[in-house]
Amino acid sequence: MSQQLKKLQAVKGMNDLLPEESPYWQYLEAQIAETVQGYGYQEIRFPILEATELFKRSIGEVTDIVEKEMYTFDDRNGDSLTLRPEGTASCVRACEEHQMLYNRATLTQKLWYTGPMFRYEKPQKGRLRQFHQFGVEAYGYLGPDVDAELLMMTARLWRVLGIDQAVTLQINSLGSNESRRAYRDALVAYLEARKDQLDEDSQRRLTTNPLRILDSKSAKTQSLLDGAPDLADYLDEESRQHFAQLQELLKGAGVDFTVNTRLVRGLDYYGKTVFEWVTDRLGAQGTVCAGGRYDKLVEQLGGKPTPAVGFAMGLERLILLLQELNAFPEEISRATDVYVVAVGEVMPQAFALAEVLRANSPYLRVQVNCGGGNFKTQLKKADRSGAEIALILGETEAAAGEVGVKYLRTEDPQTTIKQEDVSTLIF
Ligand code: ATP
Ligand code: MG
Repeated sequence: MSQQLKKLQAVKGMNDLLPEESPYWQYLEAQIAETVQGYGYQEIRFPILEATELFKRSIGEVTDIVEKEMYTFDDRNGDSLTLRPEGTASCVRACEEHQMLYNRATLTQKLWYTGPMFRYEKPQKGRLRQFHQFGVEAYGYLGPDVDAELLMMTARLWRVLGIDQAVTLQINSLGSNESRRAYRDALVAYLEARKDQLDEDSQRRLTTNPLRILDSKSAKTQSLLDGAPDLADYLDEESRQHFAQLQELLKGAGVDFTVNTRLVRGLDYYGKTVFEWVTDRLGAQGTVCAGGRYDKLVEQLGGKPTPAVGFAMGLERLILLLQELNAFPEEISRATDVYVVAVGEVMPQAFALAEVLRANSPYLRVQVNCGGGNFKTQLKKADRSGAEIALILGETEAAAGEVGVKYLRTEDPQTTIKQEDVSTLIF
């Protein structure tokens, strides 16, 4: 009796990216990279696996990520490794390891990275277990000017992508470690007295990570917070000034924002500026870009004190948003522009013709018919390829040094041109 083999499937929450979707990703990634490089940011690539210790020490032991979302395992040597849940910790580790922050010539760094991140979450629309982020980090800048520039850069990106009407910016200041601690005590005192009215998650956080209660999704908890102490009242003078200057710079640059004093982030390393770009077009998973300042992290990971600020965007959510808004240019999904129909003993000439086209127009996508077939079959394949133009090469054309030009999407009449003139065609 033959045993039925179990069907192999991708791991839950980890998606394949199919050919019809990849043009959207290529387009988005190219637009982002071009935009941030326009501000002097350079790409850095680091491994997907890191020592578990790195994330515990940076993100924080009592955060959602470290407590319950990491993919952690022992390798064959017994070392604990973790699939990166985010990029900032690795970026700091790499900068440290390569002394990128201490050379006189490189006291500052502006970096970007992109790639898959891994978190054990409940998969749903805009929330996956393998998801992709595009992040930037700026090191060595203490003042609010670079915070403002980062936000101007994201605002510019939304315009480039045509989604600026669908996203809004929320900012907050978390203050210094000391001011935050004072606020935390006041918040805990207020909530302790009303503990029975808190949702279950928030009750737990009261002892582990009370600031996270501020962004509880429970409506009851939120209304309880209306009477709670306000983080803004606890800011230290330096953070207050930093935040005020940031707001001035944003106003000057025409970047609209709202101050949300309940905005906190899920990672422990943030202080002073934090921000999120949110949309109401994606349901519960509405944050498309989030970040802030983390001046203490480099030191916390063993380096010299180095101010730092950065953000990460969720690429899945941005793809969903661009699709929702019909913001992708139509032509990007076309895999072929020109299809060469080659009937009879003409393959060498068909290949040569295609090579000339590719050499002269590097962006043109040219497919030569492979696998034979008569004229009618090949023309059908040309049509299905999405091409605008079919170049037709039969033995008659080949003998005359000519090629037929058939427009597949317009009513333009078919013509015949000399093969050497093929590059003069306007696509
Ligand atoms: P959330 O509150 O949605 O869980 P987060 O605070 O955990 O987000 P960050 O760690 O700040 O998110 O990551 C930055 C961005 O990466 C998020 O704003 C979001 O766009 C994206 N992101 C985070 N987790 C996921 C995920 N599991 N699937 C898809 N995108 C994600
Ligand atoms: Mg999360």
